[in-house]
Amino acid sequence: MHCNSLLINCMDCRLQGENSIKIANAFGFEPGDYDCLNYAGPPLWMTEPHEPEHKDTFMWLFEKVSINAHHVTKFGIVGHAECGGFALKGAPQVPAEEKAVIVESLHKAKAKLAKTNPQIQVKLAFVAIGPQPPKGLPEISVEIL
Ligand SMILES: [Zn+2]
Repeated sequence: MHCNSLLINCMDCRLQGENSIKIANAFGFEPGDYDCLNYAGPPLWMTEPHEPEHKDTFMWLFEKVSINAHHVTKFGIVGHAECGGFALKGAPQVPAEEKAVIVESLHKAKAKLAKTNPQIQVKLAFVAIGPQPPKGLPEISVEIL
């Protein structure tokens, strides 16, 4: 099994389906060539998990499955506006302040992964979310950091 990339997305329903594909495209990940993991506030999984055992689960998926079994070398970690995972951690609910906290967390997560795995490439993205339509997914815009 060979997979080039791993998308670490938020479990937020607004970032699933076509929006998840849009985020993967922004990272340059090819369809059928990336693994997907979802968590509430993705960088928190690596740095300040909601429950301590979550970190063990993440590290197992990251190292044993994606790196060792699937030979993944490219990683994309997602942060996004109005994230429930960060709200649970007490992140400010003012958009610019929330974004600053999430972007800082993304950089922290990247540094952590790169430290133990210098051979991998880690990209970060912040996703802004448009108004919720009556049906379906909202528009998103993906900023590669
Ligand atoms: Zn979220």
